[in-house]
Amino acid sequence: MTTQTLQEGWFELIEFLKVKCSPTEFQNWLSLIQLIEVRDQKLILEVPNVFVQEYFLENYKSDLMTFLPMYKGKLPLEFVIMDRSRDQLIELVEENVSIVDDTTDNFRYLGYTFEKFIEGPSNQFAKSAAIGAATRPGANYTPLFIHGGVGRGKTHLLWAIKNYLQSSPSKYNIHYSTTESFINDLVTSLRNKSLDKLKQYYRGLDIFLVDDIQFLQNRPNFEEEFCNMFESLIHEKKQIVITSDKPPSALQLSERLIARMEWGLVAHIGSPDLETRVAILQAKAEQRGIKLPHSVAFFIAERIFHNVRQLEGAINRLSAYCHLMHLEVTQSVAETTLQEIFQYTTKRSLTVDHILKSVATMFNVKVSDLCGNNRTRNIALPRQIAMYLAKELISESSLMKLATAFGGKTHSTLLHAWKKIRNEIEHNVVLRKQIQLTKQTLDK
Ligand code: ADP
Ligand code: MG
Repeated sequence: MTTQTLQEGWFELIEFLKVKCSPTEFQNWLSLIQLIEVRDQKLILEVPNVFVQEYFLENYKSDLMTFLPMYKGKLPLEFVIMDRSRDQLIELVEENVSIVDDTTDNFRYLGYTFEKFIEGPSNQFAKSAAIGAATRPGANYTPLFIHGGVGRGKTHLLWAIKNYLQSSPSKYNIHYSTTESFINDLVTSLRNKSLDKLKQYYRGLDIFLVDDIQFLQNRPNFEEEFCNMFESLIHEKKQIVITSDKPPSALQLSERLIARMEWGLVAHIGSPDLETRVAILQAKAEQRGIKLPHSVAFFIAERIFHNVRQLEGAINRLSAYCHLMHLEVTQSVAETTLQEIFQYTTKRSLTVDHILKSVATMFNVKVSDLCGNNRTRNIALPRQIAMYLAKELISESSLMKLATAFGGKTHSTLLHAWKKIRNEIEHNVVLRKQIQLTKQTLDK
């Protein structure tokens, strides 16, 4: 086995996994593994911690075996734990974080227009403000801050502004950026010593659209750069639109930045009411070319409440099923096909059980392990994370009650786990990402 073939096998595997895995999975796990050299017929891989290594071996074993030659029943791999300073680690994560967002989804974003955004009492104000910003950029609605829970149409509105302006006869310099890719750009330019050029680019913008500003929390260095950029654009009367999952005052950001974001217009998108949900379902069904009787739209809308993305998912699933089975859409077909989605959304309040299941899936361990007493790290860490999340997210239960749900642990065990994780995420970027991702799967 030559060094070159091994190396080629590795790169082919990575290319394959890029396609096979979801972008999130790739970002959060695989992109953290770096080939550093080929030595003694082995690939020497650097990982940020044992956790990533174990996740990799457990979940991708068969792919590894497909692309790499086995030697005496073993994979030709050796892992070394990364010995890097925190800043370098941040760089590595950031570098890999935003490869996907801006480019791969561009096609989908073209459909995000004002016309396709169904209006109702919960989002009317935000939509009007967005239209205001698009028709008279920099005039009355800057900065515009749009906030609301997941799947409520924040990204849709940002892109509607972009798409509107791009088709207008006046030529504007528009930039849409997720907060993560903004940070990524900063990191790259710091590394290439081209920060001034980047700053110049941002200062030359007419419209700056920033998605999911909550990801700027706990990143003081990046926050300062963002704040400077922000101020200089506002000073020039340029248009800024920011989205977030919380209102400005609930963000853990500096008072200076919070005050700046509250300068202009703050618009909330709430849960759509029943009528709006019905209208959204009907519009999505029409776009998919399926005939959705009003009564069935109503039946679905009564069972999915907060998240428009889930309404969309319901229509996609229903349409696929009916096309395949050559069926008309009826209430009983909807009931059978969408049962899982309904079950998911009717879990209205979060329980320790949900957390256990999500953590078990994310960290590839069993729920029974999380409730057991095994102290090996790959079980103890997810257990502590689950305890941390339980205390953070289920505030209405007592510590004792929460701890009992973990196979009868004591409240001091839970508290200890919570403190440990809370301290660790201060400096462990990978852990922070993993927890962030687990929280997303809980979809409050
Ligand atoms: P957020 O950024 O708030 O998490 P998105 O903008 O990604 O949510 O919206 C999720 C999906 O729901 C998108 O496909 C979007 O087109 C759709 N959507 C959200 N709100 C509406 C609406 N009012 N009318 C039509 N589609 C909507
Ligand atoms: Mg979004």
